[in-house]
Amino acid sequence: MKVTEHIENAKGKTLFSFEIIPPQKGKSIQELYDNIDPLMEFKPPFIDVTTSREEYIYIDKGNGLLDKKLTRMRPGTLGICASIKHKYNVDTVPHLLCGGFTQEETEYMLVDCQYLGINNVMALRGDAMKDEQSFTPKAGGNHYAIDLVRQINDLNCGKYLHEVMDVDNKADFCIGVAGYPEKHLESPSLQSDLKRLKEKVDAGADYVVTQMFFDNSKYFAFVEKAREIGITIPIIPGIKPIAVQRHLQVLPQIFRIDLPEDLIDAVDKCKNNAEIKQVGIEWAIQQSLELKAAGVPFLHYYSMGKSENIRQIASQVF
Ligand code: FAD
Repeated sequence: MKVTEHIENAKGKTLFSFEIIPPQKGKSIQELYDNIDPLMEFKPPFIDVTTSREEYIYIDKGNGLLDKKLTRMRPGTLGICASIKHKYNVDTVPHLLCGGFTQEETEYMLVDCQYLGINNVMALRGDAMKDEQSFTPKAGGNHYAIDLVRQINDLNCGKYLHEVMDVDNKADFCIGVAGYPEKHLESPSLQSDLKRLKEKVDAGADYVVTQMFFDNSKYFAFVEKAREIGITIPIIPGIKPIAVQRHLQVLPQIFRIDLPEDLIDAVDKCKNNAEIKQVGIEWAIQQSLELKAAGVPFLHYYSMGKSENIRQIASQVF
C-alpha cells in the first residue's frame, strides 16, 4: 500500500514508522532483523531503508603508495527492502539517490521495485562525497531531487527513458521527498528552500519526511510556512533520539540543526552514556507526545540501526 493510503486509512490517527541503514558490506543481515523485531509490536505500516553514496577508500599498495577506489560500503537497499517486506509483511520504502547513479541505473531500480511490489520510494539528491567541494552528479545522472521526482513521475505515466512499445504495466509510485524545518545546509534561506520543496511537490511528490529536529516549534513553523505557499501534502516529522555525547557536536555539524539549550544542559549533566541515552529517550518522548497531540500523520524515527531506544520511546507514545 502507498504511504499516502496508510495515512488516509488511519483517519487522523498518528502511526509509527522508522528508518534503517543497510549493514556494512560483508556483515550479516541478522543484526538488522534483531533490531527490527522489537519494533514490530508498534505495527509500522512502512519501514524506510537508506541508500549510501559511494565513497573513496584508500588501499595501501605496499610500496608506500595508496590506491584510491570508489566503493559503496553499505549496498543492498533494494534486496533488504524485498527481504523485510517478505519477512514481516510490511511496506518498505527504498531511498533512491541522484548521487552516484545514472538515470538508466535508476530506471532499472524502479523496474525492480515494480517486480517486487514496492510502490513507495523516497527521492533524494544525496550529499557531496567527502572529498568533493560540492555535490556533483554522475555523468548521465539526476542533479537535484526534483529531477529524480520527474523521472519517477514519467514512469508513472508510462514514459521510460527510451522508447518502449506497448507499455502494459504503468508504474504507480508514491513519492516521498525530504524537507528541512531548519533549512537545507546549502540553501541561502528557509524561504528559498521551501520554494524548492514546493517545486518538488509540483513535480509529483506525494509526501514529505523532515530532517531531524529537536525543537517542535521549528517543525510547526515549517509546516505553517509550507501550507502558506500551497504545499498541501502530508509532512511527516523525523525524530532522532540523542544517544551519545558526540551527538551534541556531530548532529549540528553534519545536519546544520540547532539543539535546544535545555537538551544540551541535560546531556552535559550526565555521568555516562547510559544516562545520556535516557535523556535522549525522554526528550524524544516529549517531542513525540506533543507532535501526536498536534495530529501528525506519522512519527518517523531515525533508528540508525539500533532499536532499543526507539522501542522505549514508542512504548510510551503508541
Ligand atoms: P534537493 O531537494 O535536490 O535539494 C538540495 C539543495 O539544492 C537544497 O539546498 C535546495 O534548496 C537546492 N535546490 C533544489 N533544487 C534546486 C535547483 N533547481 N537549483 C538550485 N538549487 C536547488 N542521504 C543519503 O545519502 N541517503 C539516504 O538514504 C538519505 N535519506 C534521507 C532521508 C531524509 C528524510 C532526509 C531529510 C535526508 C536524507 N538524506 C539521505 C540526506 C539528503 O540526501 C541530503 O540532505 C542532501 O544534501 C539533499 O537531498 P534533497 O533530496 O533534499 O536534495
